Amino acid sequence: MSNEELTRRWQGSLMDNYGTPRVPLVRGEGAKFWDADGKVYLDFVGGIAVNSLGTGHPAVVRAVSEQIGTLGHVSNLFIAEPPVAVAERLLELFGRAGRVFFSNSGAEAVEAAFKIGRLTGRTHMVATSGAFHGRTMGALALTGQPKKQEAFHPLPGDVTHVPFGDADALRAAVTTDTALVIIEPIQGENGVIVPPAGYLRAAREITSATGTLLVLDEVQTGIGRTGHWFEHQAHGVEPDVVTLAKGLGGGLPIGATIAFGAAADLLTPGQHGTTFGGNPVSCAAALAVLDTIAADGILDNVKRQGDRLRHGIEALGHPLVDHVRGAGLLLGIVLTEPLAPQVQQAAQDAGLLVNAAVPDTVRLAPPLILGDDEVEVFLQALPAVLDAVHRDQRSGEGR
Ligand code: PMP
Repeated sequence: MSNEELTRRWQGSLMDNYGTPRVPLVRGEGAKFWDADGKVYLDFVGGIAVNSLGTGHPAVVRAVSEQIGTLGHVSNLFIAEPPVAVAERLLELFGRAGRVFFSNSGAEAVEAAFKIGRLTGRTHMVATSGAFHGRTMGALALTGQPKKQEAFHPLPGDVTHVPFGDADALRAAVTTDTALVIIEPIQGENGVIVPPAGYLRAAREITSATGTLLVLDEVQTGIGRTGHWFEHQAHGVEPDVVTLAKGLGGGLPIGATIAFGAAADLLTPGQHGTTFGGNPVSCAAALAVLDTIAADGILDNVKRQGDRLRHGIEALGHPLVDHVRGAGLLLGIVLTEPLAPQVQQAAQDAGLLVNAAVPDTVRLAPPLILGDDEVEVFLQALPAVLDAVHRDQRSGEGR
């Protein structure tokens, strides 16, 4: 099978949801992928911040293989140990009492938070412009990107979007009729945007004063991605609800909605459910991910490699690079011109997978196990990639 053949079959059988060219991948190992023609790529996309331990990590392979051979799917009509163990571990990592609802994706984790919000008896919700919370209808209503919403009105809910990072705007929008405020600690899909210091704390004060739930969507920032188990822990805030997915399963589908305090008691039997939620195989993978991150000191690696990447990229002093933003291994290379798709393409040609999150920002979300050598290879290869795009741009302008 070749790239061409696999692409042709893909075009004939799948709905094209992005409309951009894609690399047909057939194999992965650690932070590397191979395409159908045998070309190797260094992976700085990580399945969009999913492959926390890379591809084929022995701990995940072992956990999944053992679990599927022992107790695969049971449905949550029954009790199985893996979801209990993951829930206990998550609560331990949060250091707070609470309850977990498992689902299969980030959007579903947000949907459960949406329902918990409605169960306060209030309907008004506040989210932020540019936010991404998923594509199902409730999550889409909270997503702050009109282009993704426009074909699907009417959307559920009574949602106000306020500028991200602006505590005054949040204060003005939230009232004692507001069910929830949902915030990404760092906006991922919107180009890795970090809010000003103190923003999450202000959000906590504002929501506490109005009896509003503070929901932090850590689908992208959670599970060590920023160098902390959960990004909000770096800000000393205690949310009422946290949503997780992506990196939690290390490549297997899983979503989790964790509610603390009184919020943990809002959802009552019969009000929500999903067949696959808490699937033992996905949960076994999640447990392996959480164990490995802790045992191998991966949070320190994330901080270290994140710093090396950020400083290394900025030290190139390349005219196309304005600055690098983000935290840990969730980084955005902010370009001086809106050429991120071109950089993504040139990087791919050079065997580096990166993601053009928005036109002027290239997102990096590599596996958290990234090593010194891989960072070095990336930093060595990047200047030629940027040069190629810069040169094309200049010659285009000259024409
Ligand atoms: N919330 C955030 C912060 C996300 O980044 C994403 C996915 N990019 C989602 C929710 C939706 O997750 P999923 O694609 O698994 O539904």
